[in-house]
Amino acid sequence: MLRLEDIRKSYNVGLPSQTEVLHGIDVTLQRGEFVALIGPSGSGKSTLLNIIGLLDRATSGRLFINGKETSSLPEHEITRLRGHSIGFVFQYHLLISAFTALENVMMPMWSDRRFASADMETRARELLGEVGLAAVAGNKANNMSGGQQQRVAVARALAMKPDLVLADEPTGNLDTASADDVFALLRRENTRHGTTFLLVTHNLDLARRCDRIIKVVDGRISP
Ligand code: ATP
Ligand code: MG
Repeated sequence: MLRLEDIRKSYNVGLPSQTEVLHGIDVTLQRGEFVALIGPSGSGKSTLLNIIGLLDRATSGRLFINGKETSSLPEHEITRLRGHSIGFVFQYHLLISAFTALENVMMPMWSDRRFASADMETRARELLGEVGLAAVAGNKANNMSGGQQQRVAVARALAMKPDLVLADEPTGNLDTASADDVFALLRRENTRHGTTFLLVTHNLDLARRCDRIIKVVDGRISP
């Protein structure tokens, strides 16, 4: 469902400080795989995830999502593909703190004509139920614990029924018990709906519980 061919990324292109941080990455993910992405700090994991998530563009190379080559797509198609096919979970959940949990989960659906407004709330409540937060759906995000906020972020990432979920250290900020909870949620979604996951983590215990581990060292895939 995902294929990267010779992906390279340089920052500060054209400036004296130009540096290549990804030096030709080849990766294939099958539909339904649950894969860990590990590697030292500064090795290029977040850079790679942002490229796969269409938040940033590679300097060269080819990126296929569901068989579609993305580097030549116009910006509006990139935006649509990102919105419909990809869910994100970050280390710092990036919830809107003044919104309720329910509103945070509904947010991605607001701009999508696939969801009628009554359905949005039903779906958001269902998702909050799945992450164990039905009872606090009306609480403001900033009144929730870190673990609860991260579970809201997971529910929000799943709102659009993405084919692929990219998670950049989703448990990096959590205590062990909350990290296990969030990991279990992602795993369950993967098993139930066949959603493909790529998960950056420094936690080797969690990485070993994934189907496969991809290691990046100095901008290259390490065997
Ligand atoms: P960590 O585990 O600490 O999150 P990482 O593997 O995610 O590290 P990246 O954030 O992808 O690493 O960074 C890879 C390299 O690219 C680093 O040398 C970093 O300094 C550089 N880099 C990242 N973002 C930028 C940017 N916007 N401009 C210039 N250089 C950048
Ligand atoms: Mg990173």
